[in-house]
Amino acid sequence: MSEIKGWCPGAYTPMRSGDGLIVRVRPKMGRISRDQALGLCAAARGLGSGVIDLTNRANLQLRGVPDAGHQPLLGQLLDLGLLDPDPETEQRRNVMITPFCEPGDLSTRIAEELVHRLQALPPLPAKFGFAIDCGDAPVLARDPADIRFERASDGALLIRADGADWGRFVAPDDAVDAAIMLAYWFAQNRTAEARRMRALADRLPDVWQQEMSAPPAPPAAPGPRADGFLLGVAFGSMTEAALRGLLDQTGAQEIVLTPWRMMLLPGVTEARRPGFVTAPGGRLLATHACPGAPGCASATVQTRALAMALAARTNGSLHVSGCAKGCALPRTADVTLVGRDGAFDLVRAGASWDEPARRGLSPDDLMTGRETL
Ligand code: SF4
Repeated sequence: MSEIKGWCPGAYTPMRSGDGLIVRVRPKMGRISRDQALGLCAAARGLGSGVIDLTNRANLQLRGVPDAGHQPLLGQLLDLGLLDPDPETEQRRNVMITPFCEPGDLSTRIAEELVHRLQALPPLPAKFGFAIDCGDAPVLARDPADIRFERASDGALLIRADGADWGRFVAPDDAVDAAIMLAYWFAQNRTAEARRMRALADRLPDVWQQEMSAPPAPPAAPGPRADGFLLGVAFGSMTEAALRGLLDQTGAQEIVLTPWRMMLLPGVTEARRPGFVTAPGGRLLATHACPGAPGCASATVQTRALAMALAARTNGSLHVSGCAKGCALPRTADVTLVGRDGAFDLVRAGASWDEPARRGLSPDDLMTGRETL
């Protein structure tokens, strides 16, 4: 298995990192039962490093799996009902659903039909995905997807191509047919350079641009909600022991995944565990750090201990990146520290690949506050 970067890994096609294979798990409808979660913890403990990440597409990934552990892990995931029967289905099932959907509601019905009809889609790039987001206001509008199911302000259902301001009216029963039609339009018009819908949005035929979606809902915040408890996960990464502890403490029977480094625990009213963010405004949700060294072979610096130490001392958003690629936050932060040759470059109001304001800062200088951020 060669190291491939910038492509979408799955359980069958894991990505190699500094600490072994990263095996991605795509739970159906973005949910896992308590038994599945405990089984996943056992698999992470027995066949991986024990670290479980949340991804920005509401998936999970197990880290640190040795080559010899990959096949046994696939067997365990299959037994847990967390694996598609073949790699092609897994790759096509790139479907994100609002975490606030309910059984039988419009989002759930559309997601179930779309997943059932994946074979009707044309061949699409690995990262091409769907967001099913039919609550009163979209909650996934800032998250990656190419074809979006949303509502207009008057409640009408729309299919919206990512990158377009306007969507097309569809009847609920025709929604999946319309999305498949839009996927075919994309497949016929894509080029080697334009591999995501956003790149083609300015060429969309008028019929796909009839009405604006309702304004997006404000970003969700951790804490109790009417339907359960929304819990932040520091750096989007937890140990299987921490997850087991959380399940024990809360008695949660199900976990709903979000693309926001948060999990919804339906029916739970109270959750307090170290490493999890339980209230709005927690600094750790504005702090981003990739695994860094030794977890990633591209890193020459440790990232998360430094990010943890600096979180409370930084105003605005903080990103500590193991290298210039910026996996944890591929966009601007107020303060970005970028690892290079064992030290850090400092970028202000920019991304990890932007020109630094300072170079070669030592972790010690940053930790002790000798360098002001
Ligand atoms: S940003 Fe971090 S995780 Fe991504 S390649 Fe660089 S060191 Fe690795």
